[in-house]
Amino acid sequence: MDRRSFFKTSMMGAGALAMASGPLGLVTGCAAPAPAKSQTPLHLSFQVGTALGETLKEKMDYMESLGIEGFEPGGQYLLEHFDEIANELKNRDIKLSAICAGFGGFILAEDEQKQVFDTSMREIIEAAGKLGSTGVIMVPAFNRQEPCKPHTQATRDYLCEQLHELGEFALKCGTTVILEPLNRREAFYLRLVSDAAAICRDSQSKGVKCMGDFWHMQEESSDYAAFMSAGTEYLQHVHIASRGNRKMPGEDGALDNYVDGMRALKEMGYDKYISFECGSVGDRAVTTPAAVELLRAQWEQA
Ligand code: MG
Repeated sequence: MDRRSFFKTSMMGAGALAMASGPLGLVTGCAAPAPAKSQTPLHLSFQVGTALGETLKEKMDYMESLGIEGFEPGGQYLLEHFDEIANELKNRDIKLSAICAGFGGFILAEDEQKQVFDTSMREIIEAAGKLGSTGVIMVPAFNRQEPCKPHTQATRDYLCEQLHELGEFALKCGTTVILEPLNRREAFYLRLVSDAAAICRDSQSKGVKCMGDFWHMQEESSDYAAFMSAGTEYLQHVHIASRGNRKMPGEDGALDNYVDGMRALKEMGYDKYISFECGSVGDRAVTTPAAVELLRAQWEQA
């Protein structure tokens, strides 16, 4: 091919490309518009220990004073204070967010702990559903839990089958089960939000969801990608703490940057809660409202 015919062929190629890009551009233009990121509101939630106050009423009053919209008790606390919680949630702008575990045994146990898990988990799911919780948080297996099924393909298949049953049960109760990935020191079995989301998908139940915990997400190479990999289809809850020592957000200074993850949550139109799961080094009366302010500022920035 001489220089002239090459030029001609190239121009034809460019023309074909230009024609192709027209209709393709139109197709892209017809796709559903991205959610209005700036309009995604931030919903914060506290665990029982986060809120100042002795009684549940005092804790709820304190949460309301800070504009906190979600409450995340542990499973045992939920069962023991069921009526009190139900009463306190009346006439308040606070709802039950997730329930933080509280069951006995574990789902991948090779002994009678599996039966303990099945019974106690279902009891908590029923209570959670009655009060409109977004779901009950669970970890398939902590490193310390023995005897545990081996980390094999057969075990993963078993986990998905068991989760399917549990998810369908949770749906009937009006709630979900939420898989929480942890860091490798605590639970090597499930460390990444994307892996949890894939297990949700393969469990084939809309009652099986997952979450991300900014503290454990030290395992992730990208907060943004982690949340995006789950999307609104699977992401049902988020935990937050300072990123160096798991204290109040802000207590680890510049390390406590959540903007990248928050950007994903805003872009996907995440409408569930970001819930505090942390201690505090300083005076809680000072560090708690400061943390709320920090998260609101970062959400704005994201
Ligand atoms: Mg957590």
